[in-house]
Parts: sequence; structure tokens; C-alpha cells
Amino acid sequence: MSVTEAALIEGKAFIGGAWRDADSGARIDVTDPATGELVGTVPDMGRDECRAAIRAAADALPAWSALTAKERATFLMRMYDAMTARADELAELLTREQGKPLAEARAEVISGATFLEYYAEEARRVNGEILAPDAHGRRLMVLRQPIGVVAAITPWNFPSSMIMRKIAPALAAGCTVVVKPAELTPFSALAFGSIAEQAGLPAGVLNIVTGQPAPIGEEITSNPTVRKLSFTGSTAVGKLLSRQSADTVKRVTMELGGNAPFIVFADADLDLAVKAAVGAKFRNAGQTCISANRIYVEATVHDEFVRRLKQAAEQLVVGNGLEPGTDVGPLIDDRAVAKVETLLRDAAANGATIETGGTRAAAGGRFFSPTIVTNAPATADIACTEIFGPVASIYPFTTEDEVVANANATPYGLSAYVFTEDYRRGWRVGEALEFGMIGVNDVAIATPVAPFGGVKESGSGREGSAHGIDDYTELKLLVIGGL
Ligand code: NAD
Repeated sequence: MSVTEAALIEGKAFIGGAWRDADSGARIDVTDPATGELVGTVPDMGRDECRAAIRAAADALPAWSALTAKERATFLMRMYDAMTARADELAELLTREQGKPLAEARAEVISGATFLEYYAEEARRVNGEILAPDAHGRRLMVLRQPIGVVAAITPWNFPSSMIMRKIAPALAAGCTVVVKPAELTPFSALAFGSIAEQAGLPAGVLNIVTGQPAPIGEEITSNPTVRKLSFTGSTAVGKLLSRQSADTVKRVTMELGGNAPFIVFADADLDLAVKAAVGAKFRNAGQTCISANRIYVEATVHDEFVRRLKQAAEQLVVGNGLEPGTDVGPLIDDRAVAKVETLLRDAAANGATIETGGTRAAAGGRFFSPTIVTNAPATADIACTEIFGPVASIYPFTTEDEVVANANATPYGLSAYVFTEDYRRGWRVGEALEFGMIGVNDVAIATPVAPFGGVKESGSGREGSAHGIDDYTELKLLVIGGL
């Protein structure tokens, strides 16, 4: 049986190396957002099963953390090889539960796998330090040790790669992990459980608990054995989990929502900017935390930019992600469609113009037409909230200072994009924007080699790069006296 078949047919959670049902026997339905058909069911677990998973992770911790970095890296590389070898199969499963076009799903699987490869290498560079002595007769050493049992709670919009970004550095650092995937998209996680099992990962090193978010979240945050929570999801839930984690003083990494400005200056290469805007706006049907949310275009090129982006948007093929040639898949659920419709109604009521789209696509259901909006006021909901749909809202500006001030006027601070041919302006604006990641003439900002994360209410902590593994370690001072 293949790993995806195992995930679908067995439909069990993975705790302490065993595939388990919920104690109550209850199950959750997972549906295909494109068709509404049942993809499969998974155990509807709660606090007790989550506690068992945390215990299993704690039991596995001493042996796992005692391995050498190279030994742990061997497991990571085995899992990397398995994921890349099975990328097509995993991509199909991902598209069925999440809806994105197959090519995007495949790219996500590969990008997630790359985190395993990167952290297999990085594990060998987790070093402590020996300090210059501060007094005679003693020495000071700083050890860098794994933080302990880690919990990861992940969203539905990237059901594979968001998990890999957490698991890979955690395992590499010597931590053991309990993952709670989003209930809408648990199968990519369970398929990875099969990969881990086949790679011989010792029992309990990785545990996957499916089920009710609130009770599982309460167990994770209140259980003192969990030393770190890494969460990716909405700002509202991130704040709740941060508050809940305070009583056990856990380390938290929060990868939360965004409201990315995408700034196009008159001197930009407009073809490049339009192409980048199509990717940054319509990839994953706009359901990406780093999606362009507010597109600011210098007034002198505004109409031309709108014309070109409209032309590009109207060429996008909306449909089932499994069908070849699809550019934009469905939104994840009916609530997501209703949210986009409400934002558009509100914008129109406040004087905005719908240049193209604005309605459900011909395919009906959860398919929404690529949409372009102009003339929305800066105070409209569409400018202040994360749209999370295939809707590009474009705003004119006249000066650099004005656009930087408007771009920064948000509680979010995840990613921002700047298009200009003037490298001095790119540098200047890049420094002035209050966001964790800035792309100048580029929107591909997510890579294992670079720190990914936000400022302000978009989160804290970083994933990727050497900083991403540091977050899974604790510094310990060892003072040796009497020398
Ligand atoms: P969400 O916050 O609703 O859910 C995220 C995860 O939290 C899911 O697993 C969900 O089951 C769980 N959850 C929900 N309520 C919980 C609770 N009370 N206790 C414990 N867990 C709970 O977010 P979503 O709708 O799945 O994902 C979309 C959001 O994620 C967007 O805001 C997006 O910007 C953000 N996101 C951020 C990043 C990033 O790296 N910054 C990446 C992807 C997505």
C-alpha cells in the first residue's frame, strides 16, 4: 500500500509509533473543496489522546536527543528521499484535500521536503561556545541543547510544507514532536507519518493527533512537558494560544496572518510587476499568508497596470486542481467564499469599482473568479483585513513617503513587495517598511535558507535558516570552578 493510500484507507492518527483511533471512536469527515465529495475520515481526538501523544514524545526524547546530529540527519534524509520520490502521489492527495492546482501542490511537497534536506545539513552546525574566562580559576561554557518536546499546530492552506518547516528543524535539533494538522486537511500530515514510519523513525519521535482544535490546543498549551509551541495560522488563534501558553511559560513561535503591500513605482518594469502580482495574488487562489493584499501603484502608471493585470487575470483558468491547465482552484470552504463576497459587497458599497470578476466562477461551488478592484477607500475592510481569496485591490499613490506610511498603517507585518528599477529606492523603501520579509522586484521570499516570519501582529520567531533551528534549542550555561 502506498503512503497516501495508507493515510486515506486507514485514516488513523499516529501516536507512539502506532496508528490509533479516537478513544470515542468518533471521526471527522474531510471533503474535497472542488467537488464537496468525501475524501476520507480521520479520528476525532481530544485532550486524552493528545496527552498520550505528548507522553510518547517525552518517552522518546532521551534516546532521540542523545543521537549525534549526523545520526538524526540520516533519518531526515531518508524522509527527504521518500517525499521527493513520492512527490506526485503526495501532490495528488494534497490537491484532493486542499484544492490547489496539482503543479502548485507538487511544488509545495518538494519545497517542504527541502526543509528536511536543509536541516539535515544544518543539524551538524548547532554549536555551543566557550567564553573567555571572567575570573581566574574557572571556565564558562554555553551548551546548546534541544528544547524538549515540541508541539506544532498547522493551517490548511499549506498542509504539507507548514508541517515540514516545523518538524525538520525540531527533529534535527534533537526535539520530539506532536503535530496537530488542520482538521480540513489532515491527510498530507498522516501520509508523512507513514513516510516517517517507513524511514524507521523511532516510535514517539513524531506523533500526529487529529481532531478538535480547542481541547487539543488546551492540552498542548497547559501541559508542562511541552516546552515549545510552534503555531502557523490566524492572528486570532495565535493570540489565544499565546495567552494559553503563558501559564507554563512555553517558548512560542507564531507565524500569523498578513496584509502585504505590493508597491509598484512608475519606474518599475511593469511586465515583471504584473507577472509577479499574478503569482503573489492568485497562487493558491489567494489563500496565502504572504499574498499581495494591497496593491499600491504610482498614479502615473496606475491605469496601465490595472489594464495589464486585468488582461492577465482574465486568462487564468479556474477549475478543479486535478485537471491539467488549472491555474486557480476552489476556495477551501463555503465560509471562505462568503468572506470574499462580503468584502466585495462592502467595498462596492463604499464606492469601489469591480474591474473584472467579482462573482463565483462559472464552475460554481467554491470557485471564485479572479477579481480586480479599484477605488476602494483605504479604510474599507478589503484594505484592512487579510482577503484570503483571488481578489486584487489596487490603490493609486503619488509619493514614496505617502506609500510607505500607508503600507505600514496596519497591525500586520509579514511580507511586503516593492517594484522599482531604482536600486537606491528599493533599498530605502525596503528598510522603511515594517515587515519581516521584503521582496524587491521578487516575490519568492520563502526558502529554507532564509528566515521566514513576521513582526507586529504577524508573529514572532523565524522558520528557515540557522535562526529556524536556534528556536528549537535552549542555551545552558556550564560554569566550572575550582581550576
Ligand atoms: P486558523 O488559525 O483557523 O487555524 C490554524 C490551526 O489552528 C488549525 O490547525 C486549526 O485547527 C487550529 N486551531 C483553531 N482554533 C484553535 C484553538 N482554539 N486551539 C488550538 N488550535 C486551534 O487558521 P487557518 O484558517 O487554518 O489558516 C489561515 C491563516 O493562517 C491565515 O491567517 C494565514 O495568514 C495564516 N498563515 C500564516 C502563515 C505564516 O507563516 N505566517 C503561513 C500560512 C498561513
